[in-house]
Amino acid sequence: MTEQRTIQKVLIANRGEIALRIHRACKEMGLSTVVVHSEADRDAMAVRLADESVCIGPAPSSQSYLKKSQILAAAEITGADAIHPGYGFLSENAQFAEMVEAHGLAFIGPTAAHIRIMGDKIAAKQAMIDAGVPCVPGSDGAITSIADAKKSAKKIGFPVLVKASAGGGGRGMKLAKTEADLENAVRTAKTEAKAAFGDDAVYLEKYLQGPRHIEVQVIADTHGNVAHLWERDCSLQRRNQKVFEEAPSPELNQAQREEIGMICAKAMEKLGYRGAGTIEFLYEDGRFYFIEMNTRLQVEHPVTEMITGIDLVREQIRIAEGKKLSFSQEDVLLVGHAIECRINAEHPETFVPSPGLISDFHAPGGPDVRLDSAAYAGYRIPPHYDSLIGKLIVHGRTRRECLMRLRRALSEMVVGGVHTTLDLHRRLVENEDVQNGNYNIHWLEKFLADNKIVEEDAADEKA
Ligand code: ADP
Repeated sequence: MTEQRTIQKVLIANRGEIALRIHRACKEMGLSTVVVHSEADRDAMAVRLADESVCIGPAPSSQSYLKKSQILAAAEITGADAIHPGYGFLSENAQFAEMVEAHGLAFIGPTAAHIRIMGDKIAAKQAMIDAGVPCVPGSDGAITSIADAKKSAKKIGFPVLVKASAGGGGRGMKLAKTEADLENAVRTAKTEAKAAFGDDAVYLEKYLQGPRHIEVQVIADTHGNVAHLWERDCSLQRRNQKVFEEAPSPELNQAQREEIGMICAKAMEKLGYRGAGTIEFLYEDGRFYFIEMNTRLQVEHPVTEMITGIDLVREQIRIAEGKKLSFSQEDVLLVGHAIECRINAEHPETFVPSPGLISDFHAPGGPDVRLDSAAYAGYRIPPHYDSLIGKLIVHGRTRRECLMRLRRALSEMVVGGVHTTLDLHRRLVENEDVQNGNYNIHWLEKFLADNKIVEEDAADEKA
């Protein structure tokens, strides 16, 4: 497990801001980059900046960013010695990780075995329970029949959430408030899961009424060194999608964050985990409940970088080279406060994606302001992918200072020609509950409904 290798050229198997983020880390390490892209992404910023680029297929991701063989061929042609998958696309595809390594390349991520365990939420929960991590009370594994679901739900207590074992992006998740809803919830969750993931295994979980979403960043090398890098609070969500993230969580005190951090680090040590990962919890009434683990870099990783000063992508690459973590747990600082706003090209009221030409673009700047974006004036946002156009991340010595700086940075930023969620963020920073850190996972949808920002039926569509 401690095999050393030299990485000189990294192939980036992703697009948008994360492709650029990875490119930046590589350049700072003196490495060459290859960016693969679809026909729709010829003008992408990462393609422009990378040392080399290879077109791997037409616009639909099924024919480009998800084409394992095309990506491996691009790596071979360009002589890349490692592949960074970013997030989404093939980043949590165990078979891809295996193929990359079978071709003698380094996969900048965890082992295929760990990706596989954590990609199956039922197996992940069991592994975490065995590793001493607190979980949401739920069914013992997959539901085998409606009768089994009823029995198990009674034991857990209503309301219960039916969740897809292969789930992601909030799909295949249905709420059953009472026993009368259960059969329907199980059937629809199964149908949705089958359609989305090709796997209809579902399980039950106690539905927590008003939790926060708090996740712990972990990282491990192949020498047995593991560290946690504190938590991120991602409770401001719309349809289970994070909108605004911060670190540290305004809800936790130092003793609580140290305790959950150590539980996570110990669990990773026990599992022999490699690379960066995020252990996601719901947090209610002083207790943590594990929901899932993401075996990749997260969209919101910069807030952790801002409070710790650690470059997570650099560490990921070092780990793939077989090097030791460049720090130990005791070296991990927690300085000040950081907040990230996800800026999407979406209509501010309907949240319908708004692709098209960015006519004007002005990035905010100044002290402790970071913009991770691949957008520029004259860039045409293609309609084929997600609507994230950038992440504005701001740091302050205190949460208050951070919020003031965020307000200032948001007021400077200009994105013209397409609709964006910038205005939503401008409203959020003015809000008293946000300013007081007083919110849970339902807060944003209620705020949108109360302010008639979103159509009446949109807020409760998930349930
Ligand atoms: P996915 O992988 O589909 O994103 P997760 O398990 O990560 O699913 O859950 C996504 C979101 O759904 C959570 O952040 C939370 O808002 C909500 N959620 C998940 N499980 C529960 C639960 N047991 N009780 C209440 N809300 C939940």
